[in-house]
Amino acid sequence: MIKQLIKTILLVLVIGSPYRIFAQEKIDNLLPVRGFCIAAPRPDGVDEFIKFINEELAPRRVNTLILRVDFNYDFKSHPELSDSGSLKKAHVKKLVKACKDNNISIIPQINLLGHQSWASRTGNLLSVYPHFDETPQVKMPEKYVWPNADKLYCKSYCPLHPEVHDIVFALVDEICEVFEADAFHAGMDEVFYIGESQCPRCSGRDKAELFAGEVTLIRNHLSQNGRSLWIWGDRLIDGKTTGLGEWEASLNNTYRAIDMIPKDVMICDWHYERPDQTAVYFAMKGFDVVTCPWRNPGNAVIQVNDMVRFRNSSTKAMKPRFSGMVQTVWSGAGQFLDNYYGIRPDTAKNNPVNCFRSLYDEIGKLSAK
Ligand SMILES: [Zn+2]
Repeated sequence: MIKQLIKTILLVLVIGSPYRIFAQEKIDNLLPVRGFCIAAPRPDGVDEFIKFINEELAPRRVNTLILRVDFNYDFKSHPELSDSGSLKKAHVKKLVKACKDNNISIIPQINLLGHQSWASRTGNLLSVYPHFDETPQVKMPEKYVWPNADKLYCKSYCPLHPEVHDIVFALVDEICEVFEADAFHAGMDEVFYIGESQCPRCSGRDKAELFAGEVTLIRNHLSQNGRSLWIWGDRLIDGKTTGLGEWEASLNNTYRAIDMIPKDVMICDWHYERPDQTAVYFAMKGFDVVTCPWRNPGNAVIQVNDMVRFRNSSTKAMKPRFSGMVQTVWSGAGQFLDNYYGIRPDTAKNNPVNCFRSLYDEIGKLSAK
């Protein structure tokens, strides 16, 4: 009996371990980055979120969790910028431990440059420091509608304001430290207000240079602590020539910044309406790139197959730049989990829950081949 048990244990050790290592190598080679991006949970949702990490992300071998934190943290460096009832250090450490246990890297996000307001609400940075506003003449509407006469989508901070970086970099450093992160996501998508004519510092300047200058500054700051920068890719794509328009790409000339920024910035290339193959553009420019779906399961399946095909059909130099896939979720973590667990089901066929499931089912299938 004992002999049999020892034999079985040995068999598992000898055959099981190499198999696991082989399976891990196989999926890592298929898609080095297998990501999930969502708003950081509120304090009362941390435990449920950890359950989701353990029971849903880990078994699907997700290895990268981008958490959109913004001001949902009890900052010691700038407490005036924290949301009320935000995450405490102890909450974050619980999340960090859960991810460590499952070999998941956390990449915290604070939106820099753009997305400093949402609809009719000004974000904390410009509420507390209104003089950082790139467009102080644009008043926030009581009822937000798009399109509007001011072309207000989201406010931006002025990247040339001499005081803004001392403050935002203190937040960046604090959030990276508490999350024990070796990469930081700065957002930087959908920046519509940049180089505005009324700004005494930016008026008349080249918008691509302004955008590239901000990316480079953030990247250089992070690299001092051995950290890397991740950003969304839309501002680096020419919206007019590609026909991709002003959301998934740039119609305000920031796209030329692609040739001005350091090549070690990770590009999160999001496409939600069509499975556009712009990852190739970024990789050919020398950037590591991940493709990001949102709520369209059919597109996500096409996108992951494209990503695998790009890796398999490119040169040795290009292959590692096609880094993987990141599922993006734009609701709060609580709402997503309510949808996910059927507490408040999302009845739309195209929704982030179905997209996440389809994407990772496909990754599972591809890695089993
Ligand atoms: Zn400015």
